[in-house]
Amino acid sequence: LNITLLAGGVGGAKAAEGLAKSHYADSTKIIGNIADDDEFHGLWVSPDIDTLIYSLGDQIDRQQGWGRKHETHQVLSELNALGQDTWMTLGDLDLATHIYRTNLKHQGVSASEITQRLAKRHGVTLPILLPTDDVVKTRVKTSKGWLSFQEFFVREHCQLDVIDIEYQGIESAKPTQAALDQIANSDVIIIAPSNPIVSIGAILAVPEIQQAIEHSGAYVIAVSPLIGGKTVKGPADKMLESAGKSIDSKGIYSCYYTFLNAMVIDEEDQQDTTWLKEQGLDVLVTPTLMKNPEEKTDLMSRVVEFALASQ
Ligand code: GDP
Ligand code: CA
Repeated sequence: LNITLLAGGVGGAKAAEGLAKSHYADSTKIIGNIADDDEFHGLWVSPDIDTLIYSLGDQIDRQQGWGRKHETHQVLSELNALGQDTWMTLGDLDLATHIYRTNLKHQGVSASEITQRLAKRHGVTLPILLPTDDVVKTRVKTSKGWLSFQEFFVREHCQLDVIDIEYQGIESAKPTQAALDQIANSDVIIIAPSNPIVSIGAILAVPEIQQAIEHSGAYVIAVSPLIGGKTVKGPADKMLESAGKSIDSKGIYSCYYTFLNAMVIDEEDQQDTTWLKEQGLDVLVTPTLMKNPEEKTDLMSRVVEFALASQ
């Protein structure tokens, strides 16, 4: 059995943790998102990949859902005193990750290899693959003009309306062979309840990745990031709207319809079941909010079991 999880940050990490503690851990590999990456203080920061590694390594700050637990912020205070922009909260332990990543990058080590070494340090056993080793940067057009993803997300607290989104560098990005092989060999591909536009959308937009999924023969199942027609957290609603999609299961379906076999929706959205089935999908209706380890493992086990039974 070969399972692939496509994952963004917080929603992706919850799904990854659920799989890591399930019977399917040894059969699962993750493909993560690198398009939220950016440079701060000359350091390369990869927020979604670090969220996956810190979560799976149980080093994450559980309250925030990102960053390290037992974190201090001495370096950032000093940078602030030096007159630097410090709206991107980077703690001291976290900064060690970014220093390490940047240093290896300058030595010519690939982003995939750096990810593997960081994962190893944190005892992460689920392999984390990257869709590309090239630089892709999500940009968000707002009333304040084009912003980097982190400027929109962190500095502006997602409060600006989204006019447009682009993935800078995507045309020339080369997919990694590891991601293409993993997709081609998958029996089940799970789309985490991640932002369909900037987390999953940025993975799918890497040349050949979406086609690889369409041609893989895998059973593809997406867990909706919406509960009761609302996002649990984050700007997925604004982004769906800007892409001309409805903020409900239909909008999520329209992001994935070229390859989707099944969708997992929350009980609060069960009115969408009939419509989704009319599109030829298998539908699992179940509570999808994952607040603790048991709920993560329980949901993700049921997602795999449903996929295997429906395949
Ligand atoms: P980010 O990269 O940190 O923004 O995280 P992701 O893109 O992976 O996930 C963001 C999405 O996860 C949001 O749209 C949330 O609605 C969704 N989400 C977060 N927690 C849960 C959960 O427990 N259940 C479901 N169904 N969705 C969730
Ligand atoms: Ca993200």
